[in-house]
Amino acid sequence: MVADMSSVKIRKQCMILVAMALLLWGQGRLFAAPVVSVSTLPLHSLVSLVMKGVGEPTLLMASGQSPHHQSLLPSTIRKIAESDLVVWVGPVHESSLSRAVQQVENEAIIMTLIDNPQITRLPSRRGGIWDEGSHSHESDDSENHSEGGHGSLSVDGHIWLSTDNAKSIIEVVGKQLKEMDVENKAAYKRNMDLAYQRIDRLKRDLKDQFAHVRKKDYLVFHDAYQYLEAEFDLRPAGVVAISPDRAPSAKTLRNLRQLIEKINDDNQSVCIFREPQFKSSAITILDENNNVITSELDPIGIGIERGSDLWFKLMYDLGAALASCLATKH
Ligand SMILES: [Zn+2]
Repeated sequence: MVADMSSVKIRKQCMILVAMALLLWGQGRLFAAPVVSVSTLPLHSLVSLVMKGVGEPTLLMASGQSPHHQSLLPSTIRKIAESDLVVWVGPVHESSLSRAVQQVENEAIIMTLIDNPQITRLPSRRGGIWDEGSHSHESDDSENHSEGGHGSLSVDGHIWLSTDNAKSIIEVVGKQLKEMDVENKAAYKRNMDLAYQRIDRLKRDLKDQFAHVRKKDYLVFHDAYQYLEAEFDLRPAGVVAISPDRAPSAKTLRNLRQLIEKINDDNQSVCIFREPQFKSSAITILDENNNVITSELDPIGIGIERGSDLWFKLMYDLGAALASCLATKH
């Protein structure tokens, strides 16, 4: 009798344990987020915003370098192969990922943002200040492919540097995730709504910031800021490196010096913005004997902690650096 009682008890306990295990297993499966991998830091940040509380996207490109310079690592190929969803700008900006992305095209959903009709695209700037001294590599096809967005490819790939595009990226990624992961639909929706509000606030703040500065002439290291400039009505005087892959030619440097001297003759200084991921002795040369203020712009957030806040910090930092230099009198 005693033995019977305890065996019933044990059986009961076993059943409870099995039920609990099933419940936990079921929940785990039910609420597991899709495996999402994202090309660069700013896009990774926007996707992290959408996935907050649900899962963590994987970053594909090394965070300390410019996407223009990277080569494809075996670990990156592995990460792409393990993904359910891959989010990238496209070959125009992250050419090194192209081959690996093509390989998984049938097994994963590939979201090529530059081809998405909801994303605003601007043509690469050509001619005049954007081309000086660049004639020698016009015909050099292999170079153009490695440049990613700065060579013969006609679309500017720096699409994340616009608040409107950031909202569109959140929208298209969020829509895709809601379809792939119905159980977490409400969480994605909530995250998307919060992200839109934060982006609207950022846009208002940047508008205010730029409204109060004089529109001074400035030079950027490479032509990455067209989307930001279009949105906030900023006009650069030129670009130091036509391609981020190579030093500016002697002719380009001569033209830039002339441009700076002309602006200086009008009793105005020129802001020149370097970038943390590129060494540029050219900027040091332009600095000599001229009325130049140098500062730094970081279009991909190399120095910022990765995660959902990175993109906001990146945009506020760009705004602060531009506004403070442009606000300098004379
Ligand atoms: Zn670039």
